[in-house]
Amino acid sequence: MQKNNKWISENVKCCACGGKIGSEHINIIQINKKATWSAPAGSIVSNQAGGFGALAVVCDDCIQNNKKLKFAVDWSGDEIKYPSISELDDLEPFFDMGAS
Ligand SMILES: [Zn+2]
Repeated sequence: MQKNNKWISENVKCCACGGKIGSEHINIIQINKKATWSAPAGSIVSNQAGGFGALAVVCDDCIQNNKKLKFAVDWSGDEIKYPSISELDDLEPFFDMGAS
């Protein structure tokens, strides 16, 4: 199911304060962590080695106050999950072509 801003606003909690987003204006931030789920995940920085970047949804207040993110968001299943950022693996560098 494609999620729109209205759905996000009504269903997804802020990944910094845990409050409701409550506005049509949605801030989606890519975290430098690997997503272990399929949605939402940043496809722009995907590559075979690095995987997809985890995303977080953040309310306007937290953006303005530069609040630290605690969770990513995973809405690939029936229920929304909030994986703790500290438990996610780091995303591998975007332009690392597999040399190690
Ligand atoms: Zn917030």
